[in-house]
Amino acid sequence: MRQPLAFIYHERYGGRGTAHHRLAESWKRYQAIRELSIELGLNVRFYRQAVASDAELRRVHPQSYIDWVRQMDLRAEGFLDKSDTPAYRGVFHRAAVAVGGTLLGVQLIADGLTRIAFNPGGGLHHARATATSGFCVFNDLAVAVRWLMAERGIQRPVIIDVDGHHGDGTQEIFYREPILTVSLHQYDGRFYPGSGALEESGEGEGVGYALNIPLPRRTGTVPYLRALDEVVLPVVRAYNPDFVLLQFGVDAHWKDRLVSLRLTAQDYGAMMERFITLAHSTAAQGRLMIAGGGGYTPDAVVRSWGVALATSTGEPERAHALHDELTLAKAGDPTREAEAHALIERAKALHLPRWSGQMA
Ligand SMILES: [Zn+2]
Repeated sequence: MRQPLAFIYHERYGGRGTAHHRLAESWKRYQAIRELSIELGLNVRFYRQAVASDAELRRVHPQSYIDWVRQMDLRAEGFLDKSDTPAYRGVFHRAAVAVGGTLLGVQLIADGLTRIAFNPGGGLHHARATATSGFCVFNDLAVAVRWLMAERGIQRPVIIDVDGHHGDGTQEIFYREPILTVSLHQYDGRFYPGSGALEESGEGEGVGYALNIPLPRRTGTVPYLRALDEVVLPVVRAYNPDFVLLQFGVDAHWKDRLVSLRLTAQDYGAMMERFITLAHSTAAQGRLMIAGGGGYTPDAVVRSWGVALATSTGEPERAHALHDELTLAKAGDPTREAEAHALIERAKALHLPRWSGQMA
């Protein structure tokens, strides 16, 4: 389906990011995907967001935490967490700009000005209500969900997180509510952030509404897409979301510096195709907010996002040159993939019965 995409971009995305200096190369990914989407001639329209206000941030974060981030910004030394997210002069503004981007995206979609939007600087899924973690200061997707529910009457949003790391902050914020959060990620109990086991599936009112697909390292395309097709998509379709939000970090790409999963750029196109179809075949009526997220090897990030964006606008042919050469890509490890297939069986057994009454 051909459709225009609202590309949210702020000039602050061209400067220093929130990851530490050892990953300074990765700060360039936002500007690079903006340039690539122009170069490919994709059907995008650019929008510049306003900085999120304290009132907007308070939809998720208490004022005391917002004030603390501001103080750390003025102090400009040390870290906002243990050792991942540096405190520097300007970090507050940078973090609030990212939230403003996702808010603008969902507003454009909710108000019918576009069906799909992309905020490359969003997807800050490790941020908790009262704590910074893993380069994430404020949780833009959680703020956007709260805004959609309070201001636009959205009742069943879903956040699907394909970043190579567990979406722990997002999960924690909604863990006791009947709001579906999905995360596929590398997991061995130790890999950052150390959470995201299959058994973490929500508490109280939220039981069954956290869906985790914890994959062994070196898992590649086939089990990954199988987990999507046989667990994630059936559950999300049964939930019947009225708005779909994606955390579309692409650090599960085989070339990534931090994650050891083995996806290719074209896999991100295959995923996006599924998410577009999902959004159109549910109460979401095509409404899809795409936030960026992780990705620490710039060439792989930009190609993966490029393929995904071209797919989202219905122009996948424009991105063919960005595909990975499969003879060069690291393929999945058969032993680990056998473990992944066993995990998928367990995930089906745990999650599908809960939703079977609603399954078409
Ligand atoms: Zn990540």
